[in-house]
Amino acid sequence: MALSRGLRCCQRIFSWIPVVIISSVALWSYYAYVFELCFFTLSSTLEMVSYLTVFHVCFVMFCWTYWKAIFTPPSSPSKKFQLSYNDKERYEMEERPDVQKQILVDISKKLPIFTRAASGAIRFCDRCQVIKPDRCHHCSVCEMCVLKMDHHCPWVNNCIGFSNYKFFLLFLCYSILYCVFIASTAFQYFLKYWVEDLPSGHAKFHVLFLVFVALMFFVSLMFLFGYHCWLVSKNRSTLEAFSAPLFQNGPDKNGFNVGFHRNLRQVFGNDRRLWFVPVFTSLGDGHYFPVRSVSESQNPLLGNEENWEEDEGGTDEEEGTGEYNLTASEEVSERLI
Ligand SMILES: [Zn+2]
Ligand SMILES: [Zn+2]
Repeated sequence: MALSRGLRCCQRIFSWIPVVIISSVALWSYYAYVFELCFFTLSSTLEMVSYLTVFHVCFVMFCWTYWKAIFTPPSSPSKKFQLSYNDKERYEMEERPDVQKQILVDISKKLPIFTRAASGAIRFCDRCQVIKPDRCHHCSVCEMCVLKMDHHCPWVNNCIGFSNYKFFLLFLCYSILYCVFIASTAFQYFLKYWVEDLPSGHAKFHVLFLVFVALMFFVSLMFLFGYHCWLVSKNRSTLEAFSAPLFQNGPDKNGFNVGFHRNLRQVFGNDRRLWFVPVFTSLGDGHYFPVRSVSESQNPLLGNEENWEEDEGGTDEEEGTGEYNLTASEEVSERLI
């Protein structure tokens, strides 16, 4: 027992190593750019001031988005998806799998669930004892069910899901911007050092490596960012790209794809001014997502729309929830017409 607790503690400490590596590289790049390039290499004051101003904007946005991606906790299913004491007892006492399946079907009738497990049953997490909302998956690293789980990212030591997907995308975006700015402004001095137009010294070493590292990160991040842009445009998570979500009438990789603009708004929100600011603006509460084609009979929102209201109140995200319920209702009425 003590051994497994010790192992878990070590695992938790080791899991921070990638974050420490990225942070160290970022801090070194700050030193190399500000001191070695701007203060010790540049001769024009105007050039130095303009480079330093833009650099600091990029650096602050990079750090802000990285911080938000790391420290925004993944969100888990609300109480409505947990089994009540009676239901839990009924479920656990039952030994016949078919009856267990039916119990979950009965409980989930009032919940907005469209996806199913491979067996056709309602998706249920035995470890968290919770009915999984659409797009929710259990993360074995975080040991919890994560709403709209995308993947567990070791570089931020956090689960990327509904609560921080926007921050993760912005982190990729600002990292690329940071690398592009460094590489494009330092490249001429890189060449001067390379052909020895500038005197050798410690600044040479830092500037040469700065450009190398910036280009290396730029290339690898571009692939990842491009892939996630494509996922957002199709409204797919990384997990869904590998394995299509299973609906009552079969798997459909485009099940949540409701058109390019609406897909974008689901992640970035309705207010375009906040799209590039790392504040939470994603639509909804992560439990319900409009689906492309759901027949009226399958849609639990039609019969129980007023049942699907969150009770807990008072948070910023609550505003988003209200807005999203409206969107969900619009969605339903569109299909009715
Ligand atoms: Zn779980
Ligand atoms: Zn995780």
